[in-house]
Amino acid sequence: KSADALAQSARTESMARGAGRAPVVIDRAFGVTFKDPDGNTFIDLSAGVGVSSVGRCHPKVVAAMREQSEVLMHAMEVNSTKRTELATKISEIMPEGLRGDCITFFTQGGSDALEAAVKFAKRVTGRHQIIAFHGGYHGVWNASVALTTGTAYRKGYAPFMGGVIHAPYPYAYRFPFDTNQKSAEQIAGEYVDYLLNTPYTAADDVAAVIVEPVQGEGGYVPPAPEFLQILRKACDRSGALLIVDEVQAGAGRTGKMWAVEHSGVKPDMLTFGKGIGGDVPMAGLVMRSDLAAKIPDGSVPNTFAANSVSAAVALTNISLLQDPSLGLLDRARSLGQEAKEYIQGLNSPFIGEVRGLGLMIGIELVQDRATKEPLSHEKIGELMGYVLSHGVMMVPCGRYGNVMRVMPSLTIPRSLLFKALDIFGRGLSTL
Ligand code: PMP
Repeated sequence: KSADALAQSARTESMARGAGRAPVVIDRAFGVTFKDPDGNTFIDLSAGVGVSSVGRCHPKVVAAMREQSEVLMHAMEVNSTKRTELATKISEIMPEGLRGDCITFFTQGGSDALEAAVKFAKRVTGRHQIIAFHGGYHGVWNASVALTTGTAYRKGYAPFMGGVIHAPYPYAYRFPFDTNQKSAEQIAGEYVDYLLNTPYTAADDVAAVIVEPVQGEGGYVPPAPEFLQILRKACDRSGALLIVDEVQAGAGRTGKMWAVEHSGVKPDMLTFGKGIGGDVPMAGLVMRSDLAAKIPDGSVPNTFAANSVSAAVALTNISLLQDPSLGLLDRARSLGQEAKEYIQGLNSPFIGEVRGLGLMIGIELVQDRATKEPLSHEKIGELMGYVLSHGVMMVPCGRYGNVMRVMPSLTIPRSLLFKALDIFGRGLSTL
Protein backbone atom coordinates (compact mmCIF):
# COMPACT_ATOMS: atom_id res chain seq x y z
CA LYS A 1 0.00 0.00 0.00
CA SER A 2 1.25 3.48 -0.72
CA ALA A 3 1.63 6.02 2.06
CA ASP A 4 -1.45 7.86 0.79
CA ALA A 5 -3.56 4.72 0.79
CA LEU A 6 -2.33 3.82 4.25
CA ALA A 7 -3.05 7.30 5.57
CA GLN A 8 -6.54 6.96 4.15
CA SER A 9 -7.14 3.58 5.77
CA ALA A 10 -5.60 4.72 9.06
CA ARG A 11 -8.39 7.24 9.15
CA THR A 12 -11.10 4.61 8.89
CA GLU A 13 -9.42 1.81 10.81
CA SER A 14 -8.49 3.69 13.93
CA MET A 15 -9.97 6.47 15.96
CA ALA A 16 -6.91 6.70 18.15
CA ARG A 17 -4.96 8.94 15.86
CA GLY A 18 -3.86 11.21 18.62
CA ALA A 19 -2.34 14.33 17.18
CA GLY A 20 -2.14 12.43 13.89
CA ARG A 21 -3.99 14.89 11.74
CA ALA A 22 -0.98 14.80 9.45
CA PRO A 23 -1.65 12.64 6.40
CA VAL A 24 1.46 10.54 6.75
CA VAL A 25 2.23 7.06 8.01
CA ILE A 26 5.45 6.13 9.79
CA ASP A 27 6.91 2.85 8.76
CA ARG A 28 10.32 2.99 10.37
CA ALA A 29 12.37 5.57 12.21
CA PHE A 30 15.87 6.21 13.35
CA GLY A 31 17.00 9.19 15.38
CA VAL A 32 15.23 12.33 14.23
CA THR A 33 14.04 11.13 10.85
CA PHE A 34 11.47 8.58 9.79
CA LYS A 35 10.35 6.92 6.59
CA ASP A 36 6.89 6.32 5.22
CA PRO A 37 6.04 2.99 3.53
CA ASP A 38 7.03 4.44 0.14
CA GLY A 39 10.51 5.15 1.45
CA ASN A 40 10.13 8.93 1.69
CA THR A 41 12.21 10.43 4.51
CA PHE A 42 10.96 13.11 6.91
CA ILE A 43 12.75 15.31 9.42
CA ASP A 44 10.66 15.09 12.55
CA LEU A 45 10.03 18.33 14.44
CA SER A 46 7.39 16.66 16.56
CA ALA A 47 9.16 13.59 18.00
CA GLY A 48 5.96 11.76 18.79
CA VAL A 49 4.74 14.94 20.49
CA GLY A 50 7.80 15.20 22.67
CA VAL A 51 8.20 11.53 23.44
CA SER A 52 11.39 10.63 21.60
CA SER A 53 13.66 12.85 23.65
CA VAL A 54 16.85 11.03 22.63
CA GLY A 55 15.74 10.16 19.12
CA ARG A 56 13.79 7.17 17.94
CA CYS A 57 15.24 3.68 18.24
CA HIS A 58 18.42 4.85 19.94
CA PRO A 59 20.83 1.87 19.84
CA LYS A 60 21.38 1.97 23.61
CA VAL A 61 17.64 2.05 24.24
CA VAL A 62 17.05 -0.83 21.85
CA ALA A 63 19.81 -2.84 23.53
CA ALA A 64 18.37 -2.18 27.01
CA MET A 65 14.96 -3.26 25.83
CA ARG A 66 16.28 -6.46 24.30
CA GLU A 67 18.37 -7.31 27.34
CA GLN A 68 15.56 -6.70 29.81
CA SER A 69 13.02 -8.64 27.78
CA GLU A 70 15.19 -11.72 28.14
CA VAL A 71 15.13 -11.69 31.93
CA LEU A 72 11.89 -10.08 33.18
CA MET A 73 9.10 -8.15 31.55
CA HIS A 74 6.32 -7.87 34.05
CA ALA A 75 5.78 -7.93 37.78
CA MET A 76 2.82 -6.53 39.64
CA GLU A 77 2.33 -8.37 42.89
CA VAL A 78 5.96 -7.90 43.90
CA ASN A 79 8.39 -5.09 43.27
CA SER A 80 10.95 -5.68 40.55
CA THR A 81 14.57 -4.65 40.62
CA LYS A 82 14.14 -2.44 37.56
CA ARG A 83 11.11 -0.65 38.95
CA THR A 84 12.95 -0.02 42.20
CA GLU A 85 16.03 1.16 40.32
CA LEU A 86 13.92 3.53 38.26
CA ALA A 87 12.07 4.92 41.28
CA THR A 88 15.44 5.63 42.91
CA LYS A 89 16.73 7.32 39.77
CA ILE A 90 13.58 9.41 39.46
CA SER A 91 13.94 10.54 43.03
CA GLU A 92 17.52 11.63 42.28
CA ILE A 93 16.56 13.70 39.26
CA MET A 94 13.56 15.43 40.83
CA PRO A 95 13.55 19.19 41.37
CA GLU A 96 14.27 20.54 44.81
CA GLY A 97 11.42 19.90 47.21
CA LEU A 98 10.98 16.35 45.98
CA ARG A 99 14.53 15.21 45.32
CA GLY A 100 15.65 12.42 47.62
CA ASP A 101 12.49 12.43 49.68
CA CYS A 102 9.65 11.30 47.47
CA ILE A 103 7.84 8.26 46.17
CA THR A 104 6.86 7.51 42.58
CA PHE A 105 3.51 6.09 41.58
CA PHE A 106 3.94 4.69 38.08
CA THR A 107 1.27 4.79 35.41
CA GLN A 108 1.12 3.92 31.72
CA GLY A 109 0.44 7.38 30.35
CA GLY A 110 0.12 11.03 31.26
CA SER A 111 -3.65 11.06 31.61
CA ASP A 112 -3.64 8.38 34.27
CA ALA A 113 -0.80 10.15 36.08
CA LEU A 114 -3.13 13.15 36.36
CA GLU A 115 -6.02 10.94 37.46
CA ALA A 116 -3.71 9.73 40.23
CA ALA A 117 -2.64 13.27 41.11
CA VAL A 118 -6.23 14.37 41.68
CA LYS A 119 -7.12 11.26 43.61
CA PHE A 120 -4.11 11.49 45.91
CA ALA A 121 -4.42 15.25 46.40
CA LYS A 122 -7.94 14.70 47.70
CA ARG A 123 -6.90 11.78 49.88
CA VAL A 124 -4.01 13.57 51.57
CA THR A 125 -5.67 16.94 52.10
CA GLY A 126 -9.20 15.78 52.81
CA ARG A 127 -10.34 18.56 50.47
CA HIS A 128 -12.31 18.29 47.26
CA GLN A 129 -11.73 21.05 44.75
CA ILE A 130 -8.94 21.59 42.25
CA ILE A 131 -7.74 24.75 40.54
CA ALA A 132 -6.57 24.30 36.96
CA PHE A 133 -6.04 26.77 34.10
CA HIS A 134 -7.59 27.97 30.89
CA GLY A 135 -5.77 26.40 27.98
CA GLY A 136 -4.45 23.60 30.19
CA TYR A 137 -4.22 20.07 28.92
CA HIS A 138 -3.94 17.21 31.38
CA GLY A 139 -5.53 14.25 29.65
CA VAL A 140 -8.78 12.82 28.44
CA TRP A 141 -10.40 10.54 31.02
CA ASN A 142 -12.40 11.50 34.07
CA ALA A 143 -10.50 13.83 36.37
CA SER A 144 -7.90 14.56 33.71
CA VAL A 145 -10.42 15.82 31.15
CA ALA A 146 -12.17 17.83 33.84
CA LEU A 147 -8.88 19.69 34.35
CA THR A 148 -8.41 20.12 30.60
CA THR A 149 -10.04 22.95 28.69
CA GLY A 150 -10.77 22.98 24.97
CA THR A 151 -13.94 22.18 23.07
CA ALA A 152 -12.31 19.41 21.07
CA TYR A 153 -11.66 17.39 24.21
CA ARG A 154 -14.84 18.23 26.11
CA LYS A 155 -17.73 18.60 23.71
CA GLY A 156 -20.29 15.85 24.16
CA TYR A 157 -18.47 14.23 27.07
CA ALA A 158 -20.09 16.11 29.96
CA PRO A 159 -20.73 15.84 32.83
CA PHE A 160 -17.17 16.01 34.07
CA MET A 161 -15.80 15.45 37.53
CA GLY A 162 -17.07 18.31 39.69
CA GLY A 163 -15.06 20.71 41.77
CA VAL A 164 -12.65 22.04 39.14
CA ILE A 165 -12.18 25.79 39.05
CA HIS A 166 -10.41 27.14 35.97
CA ALA A 167 -8.32 30.27 36.35
CA PRO A 168 -6.59 32.36 33.66
CA TYR A 169 -3.13 31.25 32.56
CA PRO A 170 -0.63 34.06 31.94
CA TYR A 171 -0.74 33.79 28.17
CA ALA A 172 0.57 37.31 27.67
CA TYR A 173 0.01 37.40 23.91
CA ARG A 174 -3.72 36.92 24.33
CA PHE A 175 -4.33 37.86 27.95
CA PRO A 176 -7.91 39.08 28.41
CA PHE A 177 -7.07 41.64 31.14
CA ASP A 178 -5.22 44.93 31.17
CA THR A 179 -1.49 44.38 31.67
CA ASN A 180 -0.46 48.02 31.81
CA GLN A 181 -0.10 48.07 35.60
CA LYS A 182 0.70 44.44 36.31
CA SER A 183 2.09 41.56 34.29
CA ALA A 184 -0.12 38.67 33.17
CA GLU A 185 1.83 36.50 35.62
CA GLN A 186 0.98 38.80 38.53
CA ILE A 187 -2.67 39.06 37.61
CA ALA A 188 -3.09 35.31 37.04
CA GLY A 189 -1.11 34.43 40.16
CA GLU A 190 -2.98 36.89 42.38
CA TYR A 191 -6.29 35.61 41.07
CA VAL A 192 -5.41 32.13 42.30
CA ASP A 193 -4.26 33.58 45.59
CA TYR A 194 -7.65 35.25 45.89
CA LEU A 195 -9.46 31.98 45.17
CA LEU A 196 -7.35 30.09 47.65
CA ASN A 197 -7.29 32.55 50.49
CA THR A 198 -10.53 34.50 50.58
CA PRO A 199 -13.20 33.18 52.94
CA TYR A 200 -16.14 33.49 50.57
CA THR A 201 -14.43 31.63 47.69
CA ALA A 202 -13.59 27.93 47.60
CA ALA A 203 -10.72 28.64 49.99
CA ASP A 204 -10.66 25.89 52.59
CA ASP A 205 -11.77 23.17 50.20
CA VAL A 206 -9.10 23.40 47.48
CA ALA A 207 -6.94 20.28 47.51
CA ALA A 208 -4.49 21.35 44.81
CA VAL A 209 -3.48 23.75 42.12
CA ILE A 210 -2.48 21.78 39.03
CA VAL A 211 -0.40 23.70 36.53
CA GLU A 212 1.76 23.13 33.47
CA PRO A 213 5.00 25.04 34.09
CA VAL A 214 5.05 25.70 30.33
CA GLN A 215 1.63 25.28 28.82
CA GLY A 216 1.80 22.64 26.09
CA GLU A 217 -1.29 21.85 24.05
CA GLY A 218 -2.62 25.31 24.96
CA GLY A 219 0.02 26.88 22.72
CA TYR A 220 3.55 26.52 24.12
CA VAL A 221 3.26 29.33 26.61
CA PRO A 222 6.19 29.83 29.00
CA PRO A 223 5.18 32.11 31.88
CA ALA A 224 7.74 34.27 33.66
CA PRO A 225 9.07 32.50 36.80
CA GLU A 226 7.10 34.89 38.98
CA PHE A 227 3.84 33.08 38.17
CA LEU A 228 4.83 29.79 39.78
CA GLN A 229 6.41 31.68 42.66
CA ILE A 230 3.13 33.45 43.40
CA LEU A 231 1.24 30.15 43.13
CA ARG A 232 3.66 28.54 45.58
CA LYS A 233 3.07 31.25 48.16
CA ALA A 234 -0.68 31.16 47.66
CA CYS A 235 -0.73 27.39 48.14
CA ASP A 236 1.41 27.65 51.26
CA ARG A 237 -0.99 30.15 52.78
CA SER A 238 -4.02 27.99 52.09
CA GLY A 239 -2.71 24.46 52.59
CA ALA A 240 -3.43 23.43 48.99
CA LEU A 241 -0.84 21.33 47.19
CA LEU A 242 1.05 22.64 44.18
CA ILE A 243 1.19 20.00 41.46
CA VAL A 244 3.25 20.62 38.34
CA ASP A 245 2.30 18.68 35.25
CA GLU A 246 5.62 18.07 33.48
CA VAL A 247 4.29 15.44 31.07
CA GLN A 248 5.13 17.58 28.05
CA ALA A 249 7.58 20.20 29.31
CA GLY A 250 9.69 17.85 31.45
CA ALA A 251 12.52 15.42 30.65
CA GLY A 252 15.03 18.04 29.58
CA ARG A 253 12.97 19.60 26.82
CA THR A 254 13.20 23.15 28.15
CA GLY A 255 16.93 22.96 28.87
CA LYS A 256 16.50 21.89 32.47
CA MET A 257 15.36 18.43 33.49
CA TRP A 258 12.07 19.92 34.76
CA ALA A 259 10.50 23.13 33.56
CA VAL A 260 9.58 24.10 37.13
CA GLU A 261 13.30 24.44 37.83
CA HIS A 262 13.40 27.66 35.81
CA SER A 263 11.40 29.24 38.65
CA GLY A 264 13.14 27.69 41.65
CA VAL A 265 9.73 26.68 42.98
CA LYS A 266 9.42 23.47 45.01
CA PRO A 267 6.37 21.47 43.97
CA ASP A 268 4.51 19.05 46.26
CA MET A 269 3.80 16.64 43.43
CA LEU A 270 5.01 16.31 39.86
CA THR A 271 3.60 14.32 36.98
CA PHE A 272 5.84 13.02 34.21
CA GLY A 273 5.33 11.02 31.02
CA LYS A 274 6.27 11.31 27.36
CA GLY A 275 10.01 12.10 27.22
CA ILE A 276 11.00 10.13 30.33
CA GLY A 277 10.08 6.78 28.83
CA GLY A 278 11.29 7.74 25.40
CA ASP A 279 9.01 5.73 23.09
CA VAL A 280 7.60 3.23 25.59
CA PRO A 281 4.60 3.68 27.88
CA MET A 282 6.02 5.19 31.03
CA ALA A 283 4.53 7.92 33.15
CA GLY A 284 3.79 8.63 36.75
CA LEU A 285 3.31 10.86 39.70
CA VAL A 286 5.97 11.81 42.19
CA MET A 287 5.00 13.11 45.61
CA ARG A 288 6.63 14.13 48.85
CA SER A 289 7.17 11.12 51.12
CA ASP A 290 5.22 12.66 53.99
CA LEU A 291 2.19 12.99 51.72
CA ALA A 292 2.58 9.45 50.41
CA ALA A 293 2.48 8.18 53.99
CA LYS A 294 -1.18 9.22 54.12
CA ILE A 295 -2.19 6.85 51.32
CA PRO A 296 -3.04 3.35 52.46
CA ASP A 297 -0.99 0.58 50.87
CA GLY A 298 -2.82 -1.38 48.24
CA SER A 299 -5.55 1.19 47.69
CA VAL A 300 -4.46 1.93 44.11
CA PRO A 301 -3.39 -1.24 42.31
CA ASN A 302 -2.23 -0.83 38.71
CA THR A 303 -1.35 -4.00 36.81
CA PHE A 304 1.01 -2.76 34.14
CA ALA A 305 2.63 0.17 35.91
CA ALA A 306 6.39 0.31 35.32
CA ASN A 307 6.77 -3.06 33.71
CA SER A 308 10.43 -3.97 33.74
CA VAL A 309 11.01 -3.39 30.03
CA SER A 310 9.61 0.15 30.22
CA ALA A 311 11.65 0.74 33.38
CA ALA A 312 14.86 -0.46 31.69
CA VAL A 313 14.18 1.78 28.70
CA ALA A 314 13.44 4.79 30.91
CA LEU A 315 16.65 4.24 32.88
CA THR A 316 18.68 4.22 29.67
CA ASN A 317 16.81 7.20 28.33
CA ILE A 318 17.47 9.18 31.52
CA SER A 319 21.15 8.25 31.49
CA LEU A 320 21.39 9.58 27.93
CA LEU A 321 19.63 12.79 28.99
CA GLN A 322 22.18 13.15 31.78
CA ASP A 323 25.26 12.09 29.81
CA PRO A 324 27.72 15.00 30.06
CA SER A 325 29.43 13.99 26.82
CA LEU A 326 26.14 14.50 24.98
CA GLY A 327 25.11 17.63 26.92
CA LEU A 328 21.55 17.32 25.67
CA LEU A 329 20.02 19.80 28.11
CA ASP A 330 22.57 22.50 27.30
CA ARG A 331 21.99 21.72 23.67
CA ALA A 332 18.25 22.19 24.09
CA ARG A 333 18.92 25.65 25.55
CA SER A 334 21.42 26.87 22.98
CA LEU A 335 19.85 25.31 19.89
CA GLY A 336 16.44 26.46 21.06
CA GLN A 337 17.66 30.04 21.41
CA GLU A 338 19.27 29.94 17.98
CA ALA A 339 16.15 28.44 16.44
CA LYS A 340 13.92 31.13 17.98
CA GLU A 341 16.16 33.85 16.56
CA TYR A 342 16.17 32.19 13.16
CA ILE A 343 12.37 31.98 13.12
CA GLN A 344 12.05 35.64 14.19
CA GLY A 345 14.43 36.48 11.38
CA LEU A 346 12.09 34.96 8.81
CA ASN A 347 10.16 38.22 9.18
CA SER A 348 6.95 36.66 7.98
CA PRO A 349 3.84 38.82 8.35
CA PHE A 350 2.08 35.66 9.58
CA ILE A 351 4.31 35.25 12.62
CA GLY A 352 2.55 36.83 15.59
CA GLU A 353 4.87 35.55 18.29
CA VAL A 354 7.76 33.13 18.69
CA ARG A 355 8.13 31.86 22.24
CA GLY A 356 9.29 28.92 24.26
CA LEU A 357 12.01 27.50 26.40
CA GLY A 358 14.72 25.23 25.09
CA LEU A 359 13.48 22.98 22.32
CA MET A 360 9.85 23.59 23.18
CA ILE A 361 9.13 26.40 20.75
CA GLY A 362 5.76 27.68 19.65
CA ILE A 363 5.28 29.83 16.56
CA GLU A 364 1.94 31.58 16.82
CA LEU A 365 0.62 32.30 13.35
CA VAL A 366 -1.86 35.08 12.71
CA GLN A 367 -3.79 36.41 9.77
CA ASP A 368 -3.03 39.93 10.85
CA ARG A 369 -0.40 41.05 13.33
CA ALA A 370 -2.41 44.06 14.48
CA THR A 371 -5.68 42.25 15.25
CA LYS A 372 -3.95 38.96 16.16
CA GLU A 373 -6.66 37.09 14.30
CA PRO A 374 -5.47 33.49 14.31
CA LEU A 375 -4.34 32.05 11.00
CA SER A 376 -7.24 30.00 9.63
CA HIS A 377 -7.42 26.21 9.85
CA GLU A 378 -7.28 26.07 6.06
CA LYS A 379 -4.03 28.02 5.95
CA ILE A 380 -2.52 25.95 8.77
CA GLY A 381 -3.52 22.82 6.83
CA GLU A 382 -1.87 24.22 3.70
CA LEU A 383 1.30 24.98 5.61
CA MET A 384 1.44 21.53 7.18
CA GLY A 385 0.88 20.04 3.74
CA TYR A 386 3.70 22.14 2.28
CA VAL A 387 6.24 21.18 4.90
CA LEU A 388 5.20 17.54 4.82
CA SER A 389 5.49 17.33 1.06
CA HIS A 390 8.99 18.81 1.44
CA GLY A 391 9.96 16.22 4.03
CA VAL A 392 9.26 17.94 7.36
CA MET A 393 6.85 16.80 10.04
CA MET A 394 5.32 19.52 12.23
CA VAL A 395 2.12 19.52 14.25
CA PRO A 396 0.17 22.50 15.53
CA CYS A 397 -1.22 23.18 18.99
CA GLY A 398 -2.82 26.15 20.71
CA ARG A 399 -6.29 27.26 21.58
CA TYR A 400 -6.97 28.14 17.95
CA GLY A 401 -4.82 25.40 16.46
CA ASN A 402 -2.58 28.13 15.05
CA VAL A 403 0.68 27.53 16.93
CA MET A 404 3.23 25.44 15.08
CA ARG A 405 5.48 23.57 17.47
CA VAL A 406 9.16 22.96 17.16
CA MET A 407 9.95 20.12 19.54
CA PRO A 408 12.37 17.75 17.91
CA SER A 409 14.38 15.13 19.73
CA LEU A 410 17.09 16.85 21.75
CA THR A 411 19.64 14.97 19.65
CA ILE A 412 18.65 16.70 16.42
CA PRO A 413 21.71 17.68 14.37
CA ARG A 414 21.91 21.43 13.94
CA SER A 415 21.98 21.13 10.16
CA LEU A 416 18.74 19.12 10.07
CA LEU A 417 16.98 21.51 12.42
CA PHE A 418 17.81 24.52 10.28
CA LYS A 419 17.08 22.66 7.06
CA ALA A 420 13.62 21.91 8.44
CA LEU A 421 13.12 25.50 9.60
CA ASP A 422 14.18 26.77 6.18
CA ILE A 423 11.46 24.61 4.61
CA PHE A 424 8.99 25.95 7.17
CA GLY A 425 9.99 29.50 6.22
CA ARG A 426 9.51 28.76 2.54
CA GLY A 427 6.12 27.24 3.36
CA LEU A 428 5.10 30.46 5.11
CA SER A 429 6.02 32.51 2.07
CA THR A 430 3.67 30.45 -0.12
CA LEU A 431 0.61 31.36 1.98
N1 PMP B 1 -0.42 16.38 30.59
C1 PMP B 1 0.18 17.11 29.64
C2 PMP B 1 0.83 18.41 30.01
C3 PMP B 1 0.20 16.67 28.32
O1 PMP B 1 0.77 17.41 27.37
C4 PMP B 1 -0.39 15.42 28.01
C5 PMP B 1 -0.40 14.89 26.60
N2 PMP B 1 -0.39 15.79 25.57
C6 PMP B 1 -1.01 14.70 29.04
C7 PMP B 1 -0.98 15.20 30.33
C8 PMP B 1 -1.67 13.39 28.77
O2 PMP B 1 -0.73 12.41 28.45
P1 PMP B 1 -1.11 11.07 27.69
O3 PMP B 1 -1.47 11.44 26.29
O4 PMP B 1 0.12 10.23 27.79
O5 PMP B 1 -2.27 10.47 28.41
